[in-house]
Amino acid sequence: MTIPKFKRILLKLSGEAAMGDQTFGIDPATVARVAGEVKQAKDAGYQLCLVIGGGNIFRGMAGAAKGMDRATADYMGMLATVMNALAMQDALERLGVETRVQSAIPMASVCEPYIRRRAERHLEKNRVVIFAAGTGSPYFTTDSGAALRAAEMRCDALLKGTSVDGVYNADPKIDPDAVRYQQLTFSRVLSDDLKVMDASAVALCRDNDIPIVVFNIRETGNLARVLRGEGTSTIVNNQTEN
Ligand code: UDP
Repeated sequence: MTIPKFKRILLKLSGEAAMGDQTFGIDPATVARVAGEVKQAKDAGYQLCLVIGGGNIFRGMAGAAKGMDRATADYMGMLATVMNALAMQDALERLGVETRVQSAIPMASVCEPYIRRRAERHLEKNRVVIFAAGTGSPYFTTDSGAALRAAEMRCDALLKGTSVDGVYNADPKIDPDAVRYQQLTFSRVLSDDLKVMDASAVALCRDNDIPIVVFNIRETGNLARVLRGEGTSTIVNNQTEN
């Protein structure tokens, strides 16, 4: 499949991408490997924004299910994303990739606050920008944060790195006959409730015409491959399905 040429992309990774084989937290070796993927893409000439979730550390819903106040639990989840962002910044800078973290919740001694025009400048200077703390508001997820930042930064595409190589009509880890879609419309993803990203994130991408490319981040070299239009992935956009 050939995907259109993108220049500026936003890469969304869930917190689990930082976890490796662990069941919780951050595995520095895994973060270093993912950082290598990002470096490869940047070296190929792409401008890169990153959003990393926090599910490997804390999810608001899980806290709320155990009786916590939902908003408080969500703020804790957002703080978890800042830890992941700092781990990724560290890994990228050890590879020589200049990186800035901007948080939607200002924390001056840790990282920059989110300032769109400043982020723009960083990208122009060839720096990777990691947007932390999601949208800065509870009741959202980092998928929505990623879609929002992709729109604000006028990204050409949102790449969603997962542990499968695209969107299937059934769970490929359970059903051996599951078929991968090459391309889907946003409307189909929403109407069939396909698990691509949160509905609010999908709707935001649809309304702003930002294609979502779902691919496997666990395969080495895959991010750069998918950007070259060579890897296996599913693209979700506004074009009629073929
Ligand atoms: N979160 C939030 N608002 C946001 C982004 C994240 O409240 O804009 C909280 C929410 O509790 C969420 C947690 O941060 O569960 C971690 O983010 P997410 O679940 O999206 O991480 P992922 O599943 O991608 O690892």
